[in-house]
Amino acid sequence: MTHHKEEIIRVRFAPSPTGHLHIGGARTALYNFLYARHAGGQFILRIEDTDVERSEQRFVDAIIHDLQWLGISWDEGPVFQSDRLDIYREYVEKLLEQGRAYRCYCTPEELERKRKKAVAEGKRPGYDGTCRNRKLPGEGPFTVRLKTPDTGSVSFTDVLRGEVVWQCQEIEDFIIMRSNGIPTYNFTAVIDDALMGITHVIRGDDHIANTPRQLLIYRALQFEPPVFAHIPLIVGPDRAPLSKRHGAVAVSAFREMGFLAEAMVNYIARLGWGYGDQEIFSMEELIELFDVKDVNRSPATFDIEKLRWMNSHYIQQKRPGELAGLLKPFMDKRGLPCPSGDSKFLMLVRELQPRAKTLDEMAEGAAFFFRAPEFYDDRGLRKFCGKEGRQYLRMIRNELAQLSSSASRDEIQKVFEKVMETTGAKMIKLAQPVRLALTGKTVSPGIFEIIEILGVEEAVKRIDLLLQYIKENEIS
Ligand code: GLU
Repeated sequence: MTHHKEEIIRVRFAPSPTGHLHIGGARTALYNFLYARHAGGQFILRIEDTDVERSEQRFVDAIIHDLQWLGISWDEGPVFQSDRLDIYREYVEKLLEQGRAYRCYCTPEELERKRKKAVAEGKRPGYDGTCRNRKLPGEGPFTVRLKTPDTGSVSFTDVLRGEVVWQCQEIEDFIIMRSNGIPTYNFTAVIDDALMGITHVIRGDDHIANTPRQLLIYRALQFEPPVFAHIPLIVGPDRAPLSKRHGAVAVSAFREMGFLAEAMVNYIARLGWGYGDQEIFSMEELIELFDVKDVNRSPATFDIEKLRWMNSHYIQQKRPGELAGLLKPFMDKRGLPCPSGDSKFLMLVRELQPRAKTLDEMAEGAAFFFRAPEFYDDRGLRKFCGKEGRQYLRMIRNELAQLSSSASRDEIQKVFEKVMETTGAKMIKLAQPVRLALTGKTVSPGIFEIIEILGVEEAVKRIDLLLQYIKENEIS
């Protein structure tokens, strides 16, 4: 993006606290943040809470928490629009005085009737200008409308879309202040962007239809408009705009599923932006490399598998100690402890690191450390715990029982080698029934490792439990 050398870049993220922060909003916030940090500029957080019915403090808190979790920090704010109503009203007054806006006393019922009539006659259903030409003051509640030009055009050069032009005659005299005295989004956004010295507005494509209206407000107030960059929306695999129908969309939902903040940031950054074929970016690299002009012009497709892949990358990068700390809520959820100072537990975390794609999967994989299986994988039982399998189980059990409780991985391995030698069985035939006994599952970290982690005594106990279970359930 080009800008004057002496100009300090000022950007903002302006969420409405009417819901949780979604992937799309997080991406808008991230791109603004990266753009500001890259340019040594400033990033402002503005809460657009003028819709008193739908705005809630808990969403403000949640949005702030999610941004902090992602590592997106701001230099000013949060600024609340609800604290600035006097400022907006002052500008509404000014426009009224200058004759650039007018009071409209048309009732919602009247407007609706006119709209229907226009549609029925095949006309454009915009406001017909009744109150624009009113000579005498009206009565009752009023809205304030901007007097938009009847001729000419309004245009801007979008960083991503290029030249965008509208004919003014297509833009009705729209409402800038509702009858309850609260100004509309288009108005508050312009006043704030102008007074806060915002140089670049980077926001979702869904706002592009608002931009000509906002430009007319800039024009009426003789403010200089910022540079606009409208970023293409995010779609699901079916190309429809990403929504709850596609599964999780809230940042908090991904956190609860066990995605790491680093993976989310990396994934969201790549969602619509790239740098060659590089996939993995740290926040520092993103700050160094990101430029909004490089954002893709076409919609980005959300792909959960790719996010899972990135998450597994970041899980593998972490030190087991840090990972153990992050696992806490996921162990809590299962009613399990999370002893991040326990060397055996850390050993287990290290073993699970290359396998788990989320923290939740990791916690699931770690559960056996704390309790003997309550269920055994059914197919595994039938496949590996037949007559031969039980024979192997008994042999390994008896060999293990002779080891000291602090037996090393090597000694454990020797047990399996010995049984392989005497029976001629392949390793998998021995390992699978033991794995089932210890974890209830047919997939887990290496069998020697898990015996070492659990301890030989516990392993023997669990093999006995499985043999008992097989006997009671008459599995053949
Ligand atoms: N409050 C608007 C939203 O959440 C902000 C749009 C803008 O960035 O101008 O969509």
